[in-house]
Amino acid sequence: MPLQERTLETGILCTYHDEPADAPLEEHWTVLEQTTALIPAEHRPLVARVELRGHGEFPARGGGSDREARVIRLSHASLRESYNRRQNVTLLHEWGHHVDWHYDVTGWVAGQGENGRTLLQTGHTGATQGPEERIADCYMVYLIQVVADRPYEHRADPEAYRGSAARMRFGLLLGSPAFPPMAEVAAEPAPAAAAAP
Ligand SMILES: [Zn+2]
Repeated sequence: MPLQERTLETGILCTYHDEPADAPLEEHWTVLEQTTALIPAEHRPLVARVELRGHGEFPARGGGSDREARVIRLSHASLRESYNRRQNVTLLHEWGHHVDWHYDVTGWVAGQGENGRTLLQTGHTGATQGPEERIADCYMVYLIQVVADRPYEHRADPEAYRGSAARMRFGLLLGSPAFPPMAEVAAEPAPAAAAAP
């Protein structure tokens, strides 16, 4: 059977196999809708499509990205992992790579002195290491903790995403070329919750 296509309400194109063993369940589509709704509108066109891979297809676990093709591949296991049941953190991490590649967030952060070095050395679990992984994680945690306003425990380096350490990292991300200048953000009325510690 040929690959099926489905466009999420967020305008993001997904491909999938429509066979019993591989077809995403309704609950998986719901998570994909909720997850992609967290991605800023200006970042959504950076990825051409999300491939929901079948069982036995590469990658076996987690996800991967093709920079040139602007594609994200989510493994068959990825949709079904317990840590991806509320929001697909794998998808948000991969999206962070595309945002980083487009705006060179890693390069910008590397020029931000001690704070930049601290962010690029945050702990990271995963087979792939390197500064780009820290930027992709920061993007993912920012969207969950701040945009979705949900708790998120960063497994490899929990202290890095609590309190002032988290705010320092998010401040770098928001100050990078991937986000509009702070002047535009400051022009919006600040919610009362922003004053919370
Ligand atoms: Zn990565």
